[in-house]
Amino acid sequence: MDRILLTSMNIGFVGLGNMGRGMARNLLRAGHQLTVYNRTRAKAEELIRDGASVAESPAEAAQNAEAVLTMLADDQAVEETVFGENGIASTLKQGAAHISNSTLSVGCARRLASEHQKRGQGYISAPVFGRPDAAENKKLLVIVAGSDDLVTKFHPVFEAIGRQTYAIGTEPWQANAVKISGNFMIATLIETFGEAFAMLRKAQVNHALFHEIITDLFGSPVYKNYGKLIVDEQFDPAGFALKLGFKDTRLALELAQEFNAPLPIASLLRDHYLDALAHGQEKLDWASLAKASARKAALE
Ligand code: NAP
Repeated sequence: MDRILLTSMNIGFVGLGNMGRGMARNLLRAGHQLTVYNRTRAKAEELIRDGASVAESPAEAAQNAEAVLTMLADDQAVEETVFGENGIASTLKQGAAHISNSTLSVGCARRLASEHQKRGQGYISAPVFGRPDAAENKKLLVIVAGSDDLVTKFHPVFEAIGRQTYAIGTEPWQANAVKISGNFMIATLIETFGEAFAMLRKAQVNHALFHEIITDLFGSPVYKNYGKLIVDEQFDPAGFALKLGFKDTRLALELAQEFNAPLPIASLLRDHYLDALAHGQEKLDWASLAKASARKAALE
C-alpha cells in the first residue's frame, strides 16, 4: 500500500485503441489517478468502471497531469492531438511531461521534443513491443529515451505498463529508431513465414508441424505466436492492423534513407504490403501479409 501511495501520480491518457485500453487499465491497477480521452468517446467510457475519469478533450486530459501518455495510431494523429485545437500542448503544465508510446517517425519525435521544450514541457518517447494481450497483462517491453531526469522520474509509469524497461538514450527519437528497427525484423519474420509456408503447402508438406519445429529451433514467443496466427489464418479481428504495419515499414525506409543505411528487405516488404492493401487487407492483422506469398504460389 505504501508503495502505491509513494508512486501514485495524476496521469492523462489519450488513445484507447487496441493497445491503449490495456495500458490505461494497468496504470489504474498500479494506483495512479487517470483522466482518459479518446476520439470515439465510448472507448473512454468503458474505463469508468475501472476508476478512470473521462475528459472532453485532449487538453482537459492533460491540464492537471504530471504526465500525459498518448497511444495514438500515427504521426498525424499525435500531431493533431498534441498541437491541434484543444490539444495537449495547450494545457500541459510547465515541468509536466508528454510520454508518447506510439510507433512514430523519428522526425515526429524530434518535433515533439522541440515543441514541448519551447513550452517548458518535457517529452519522452516510450514505444512498446508486445500485442494487445501483452498490453492487458503488463508484459510489454518499454523502450524509453529522454533526459535522464525525466526517465528516472517517470520510471513508475513505465513499470506499471510493462514487464521490462530499456532506457536507450537521452534523445527521444532514439527510442523510435529502436522500435522501428524491431518492427522491421518482426515484419521480415512474417514475410519469411509466409514464403516458407506457401512453399510447403504447395509441396503438400505439413506446414503446421514445420511451425512447431521452427518454434523449437528459434525459441521465441514472437515466432510461436506469429507462426500460429498464420497457420490458423487468424487475421480478423486484428491485434495490429495491416495498415499500421505498412506505416512501420514506411518508417523503416525513411530511417534507412536519412542515414544512408540500405534496408533492401524493407523495400520488398513495402511491395508485399501494397499487394495486401490492393487485396483489401487494410483492417486484417499484419500477419496477413503472409497471404501475399500464398497468392503468388497460386494457393488462394
Ligand atoms: P488502434 O487500435 O487503431 O488505435 C488507434 C488509436 O488512435 C485510437 O484511440 C484512435 O481513436 C486514435 N486515433 C487515430 N487517428 C486519430 C486522430 N486523427 N485523432 C485522434 N485520435 C486518433 O491502434 P493500436 O493497435 O492501439 O496502435 C496504437 C499505436 O501503437 C500505433 O502507433 C501502433 O503502431 C503502436 N503499436 C501497436 C501494437 C499492436 O500490436 N497493436 C504493438 C505495439 C505498438 P478512435 O478510437 O476514435 O479510432
